[in-house]
Amino acid sequence: MENTFNDIQLSTHFKLSEFLNLGQHPDNLPTPQVVFNLKYGCMFLLEPARRGVGPIIINSGYRNEAYNRQVGGVRNSQHLLGEAADIRPKDPQQFQHLVDFLRNCPYTDQLLTGPDWLHISWTPFAQPRHFIRLGYYK
Ligand SMILES: [Zn+2]
Repeated sequence: MENTFNDIQLSTHFKLSEFLNLGQHPDNLPTPQVVFNLKYGCMFLLEPARRGVGPIIINSGYRNEAYNRQVGGVRNSQHLLGEAADIRPKDPQQFQHLVDFLRNCPYTDQLLTGPDWLHISWTPFAQPRHFIRLGYYK
């Protein structure tokens, strides 16, 4: 069967496909609402962060229910809405700069960091909570 997925550019440096992991999860296709939410995150968080730290790798972005269950994500995960991403800088030396940028960004909803990657979320339809936990993931 022909692949009918149409990739789109969410912002200057981020494409929709980077947030879907379709290689491992071919059914992980977003709704238009999810695409909108991902685009919001790119415009207000990821693209500005990239200007400071260089290329950013998306480990995991949008997850449908099945994918989220498979990776043990929490039931109300913002990944289900396209309102979160687990990311790392391509250059590991830039990790602290990335953390510093996001903890100071007014659009940050949740920032939970691990040793060399972090979870960042955003809320296009609500006031961001600005909940920061450094070293949350061991
Ligand atoms: Zn996450």
